[in-house]
Parts: sequence; structure tokens; C-alpha cells
Amino acid sequence: MKILVLNCGSSSLKYQLVDMDGEKLLAKGLVERIGMAGSHIKHTKVAGKEKFDKDVSFPTHTEAIKFVLDMLVDKKFGVLKNLSELSAAGHRVVHGGEDFTESALVTPKVLEGIRKVTPLAPLHNPANLQGIEAVQKVLPDLPNVVVFDTSFHQTMPATSYLYGIPYEFYKKEKIRRYGFHGTSHKYVSQRCAELLGKPIKELRIITCHLGNGSSITAVKKGKSLDTTMGYSPTAGVIMGTRSGDVDPAVLIQLASLGYDADKINEICNKKSGLLGISGVSSDLRDVEEAAEDNNWRAETAQNMLIYEVKKYIGAYAAAMGGVDAIVFTAGIGENGIAFREKVCKDLEFLGVKFDKNNNKVRGEEVLISKKRSPVKVFVIPTNEELMIARDTQRLVLGSAPAKKAAAKKTTAKRTAKKTAAK
Ligand code: AMP
Repeated sequence: MKILVLNCGSSSLKYQLVDMDGEKLLAKGLVERIGMAGSHIKHTKVAGKEKFDKDVSFPTHTEAIKFVLDMLVDKKFGVLKNLSELSAAGHRVVHGGEDFTESALVTPKVLEGIRKVTPLAPLHNPANLQGIEAVQKVLPDLPNVVVFDTSFHQTMPATSYLYGIPYEFYKKEKIRRYGFHGTSHKYVSQRCAELLGKPIKELRIITCHLGNGSSITAVKKGKSLDTTMGYSPTAGVIMGTRSGDVDPAVLIQLASLGYDADKINEICNKKSGLLGISGVSSDLRDVEEAAEDNNWRAETAQNMLIYEVKKYIGAYAAAMGGVDAIVFTAGIGENGIAFREKVCKDLEFLGVKFDKNNNKVRGEEVLISKKRSPVKVFVIPTNEELMIARDTQRLVLGSAPAKKAAAKKTTAKRTAKKTAAK
């Protein structure tokens, strides 16, 4: 079964084609600047590493998707004989609100549900919807599945998801903690259980997704118990340009100084975090380099992130009544060798016996604590696309019309084989 995984932003489209037979990545790519001057596509055919890298005009997502589909069947850069080999498309959707606790097969009702929660993700959900509608336009018979960043966290209890503001704001305005990066936290926690060789239902895992955007999750018995991102992805630890948690009085003070909602939004999401504190960059590598040159602000920005990650590890271990494993993932988590060592320093009291030698890896799945460490620490590269492809396969195989289509395909294949044999 071949599945096209799509992640549509307002002007971008990331895609992967996955063959679920062996979970092999066949092709991947990125379209940027959709609807703007200088739109561009980078496409890679994984086997043979053929690359297509050109400026192409894409007025809307529909033209971009059409082009991607042409690439997939192209003689040189393609990986499919024809588009009928595609079984489904799986779409990343940022916000599913409270209604989507699971991934879903796209129906008009599901699309309506995604539209309904758009006020919670005004930039992301419309872009995600554009991607789905573009696929529906170009390949009307292809089943579509949506996988939400928020659904994994829908298991959080009210004690984790409510804010200490009047309850009516939750009831009327749906103001609560939602949490994000759910697909990543789910993937790495499941993979961690596999690596430990234990049922996830017996484990307490802290997953640290640390990249440009960062969030940490307490995964107890396979379910999200708490997570650092909240109503929006601005909350939690400091990030590349996002502030992380701040006292609401700080925002009230900014408002009383004359900053309006848009300006405060820009400050908290685009000008804060590593960039805002260091004044150097939002990229941890640049901040680390500046810190080495004795730039105090850069050193402090880096240390804030280390301190906050450590603090949440402690908090979530307490919240779960202990911890069996800690997982690092995403850009910083997978590559930040010095960073990981600093986070795990002084965590012996918790049962972490760190192994500096094992830790000398980037982007590889590896145990970075000692084998006999009571709390195991892993680096597990995240794979959200694979998670989306798996959910898509599960839902499509479970749906009646899709089953029919799959059966039709198998019969067609058999007939073709028989004809060939004759
Ligand atoms: P992501 O958003 O997951 O792509 O992560 C991007 C971030 O990973 C960058 O902004 C860098 O701060 C960080 N990163 C990538 N490589 C390294 C590295 N070798 N050391 C520290 N941080 C890194």
C-alpha cells in the first residue's frame, strides 16, 4: 500500500511517499512560496537519490499538488508507474480541538469539524484544509485521512488541561491546554517501549521534543498525562523564537504600555526565546558558539533552555510517581550532544546514569545512559510522517468503501497476472 503524506503550511507543502510494505520511504519533497513570486520545489527520489530542484510557478496548493503527483510518476524522478498505485493521502492537521481524539478518515463532517476549530489555529488549520481540498480536486477517488497534532494529548485529565481562570472560559471559549507535537510524542514513546521490550502500559516515559518549537510530555501507560505546550504552541520551555511560559501579568503590562494584541503576539512568538534572550540567533548552534565566545546573553539563553528542560523532567517524574525512560528527539534533542549531557547532569538522584560515550551521536536511535541505569535515556529520531502513514493505512483498511477499492485493486492485479501468465 503506497501512501502520500502531506504537511501543508500556508505557503508550503512537505510531502513523503511511503510504501507501507516494509515502511519504505520512496520519495520526498518540499514546495515553498506557494502563491508568491519565486515558488520552488525540491523533490528527491530516495533510491538513486535523483533530485529535482527548480523554481516553478504555483499560484495555489492545487497546482503544487498536481506537480508533486506528476513528479511521482515522472520517468526520471518518479517512483510510481501510475497514480492508481496510490492508496491514500494522509494529512497533518495542527488542531483537532476537543472533538478529534483520534485520526479520522475525511468526510464532509470531518472537514466541517476542522473548520469549526479554526479559531484555535487560525494560521495552520486553513492551510491544512487547503491541502486536503487540493487532493480531493485532483484525485477525487483517493481516500484522505487527517492526523492531528493535538489528539494524542486528549487523554490529559482536567487537572492538567484546565487553566486556573473562571471555568466559563473553558466551557464557552474552549480555553484550555491542548498540547501539540502529539504525533511525535506518540511515535517516540511507542518506539521507546519497543526498545525497552516492555508493554507501554507498564511504562512512565518523559518525551522531550526539542527543536525550533519544543515541548515535553509525561507519557504514563502510553497516554499523555501532561505536556508543556498549552492553548497554543507558545507555552512551555523557551524555544527558538517563542517565549515559553510567562506570567500573564507580563502581557497585561505590555498591553498597558500600548502594545496591541498583534504586537504582543509577534513579540511572544517571533522575537522571544533563544533569539530574544541571546540577541544572536534562534538556532541553538549559533547560540552555543556565541556562548563559547563568552557572550553572557547567549550563555544565559542556552542555560535557560537546559534548566527548563531539567525542571520539567523533575516535575513530570513527580507527576507520574517516577520515570522509567527519558527520550530526546527533534533537531536539538537528536543532535545536541553537549546540550543533552548538560540536561542529564545531576539527574543521578532520579536514577539517571548517563554515558558520555554513548551520547556522542547525532540523529541516531541509541541508548545514551548506561545499560544498567535505572532510568534509561534514549535518543530516538522522530518520524511524524511514518506515524501519519500508519494511521492512514489503519483507517483506510478499516473503512468499507476503501476496503472495496483495495479488493478491486487486488482482483485487477490478479487478473493482470493471469493475463500475463497466459
Ligand atoms: P527542528 O525544528 O526539529 O528542525 O530543529 C531545529 C533546531 O535544531 C535548530 O534550530 C538548531 O537549534 C537545532 N540543532 C540542529 N543541529 C544541532 C546541533 N548539532 N547542536 C545543537 N542544536 C542543533
